[in-house]
Amino acid sequence: MNLIHDSFARLFPEKDFPYQPELEYNRRLSDFNANIRLYNNILKVSLNLQWKDIDDEIKIGLIQSLLLKILKKKGHTRNIVLYNNFLRNIPALTLKTKNDPLLEASFARVNQQFFQSQLQQPNLKWGTASFRKLASYNFHNDTIAVSTLFNDAKPQILDFIMYHEMLHKFHKFKHSNGRSAFHTREFREAEHSYPGHEKIEKEITAIIRMKKLRRSWWRR
Ligand SMILES: [Zn+2]
Repeated sequence: MNLIHDSFARLFPEKDFPYQPELEYNRRLSDFNANIRLYNNILKVSLNLQWKDIDDEIKIGLIQSLLLKILKKKGHTRNIVLYNNFLRNIPALTLKTKNDPLLEASFARVNQQFFQSQLQQPNLKWGTASFRKLASYNFHNDTIAVSTLFNDAKPQILDFIMYHEMLHKFHKFKHSNGRSAFHTREFREAEHSYPGHEKIEKEITAIIRMKKLRRSWWRR
């Protein structure tokens, strides 16, 4: 039985499968990533090589999540639940290879103040000098990356940025009908419980403005 066909049949038992399925494993995709494409009736699913040894029932959940996305449909299956549970456990299975003293100190402060030091430390690294993406949490490789714009920021600023990403790790992502929502109402409420967050957000905006100006000055 073809894995893609099987995923579709379990998701839409009443429908015919009108596609030509193609499944490939490759090394180009990043850790535990996957994508789906539909062209000329060929339904192609590409999975990072790491998926190869993972149980078929979990892979079916992954493929079903991709199918729902590309077909713009809603649905929920036992396999999708299995897949989401598997994703939640990736951080615990991921080897921690990246660290940085400044980010680690910030993580420890925020963990103690807001998470009773219960959050497991992810990989911590500086990202690029991005003005658009100030920081991110990638659950595929359990990594918090912070824009280098903040490598000279005071601890209060760094901690708030860290807190936001730690909330992502803490909440993971809320699933409703196979779709992910990152900044849920619950997430925003937690974020706004941070003492003095309004003042800090204004300071962050000011830092960005100043660094943009400085950049354009040096480029002249
Ligand atoms: Zn966010």
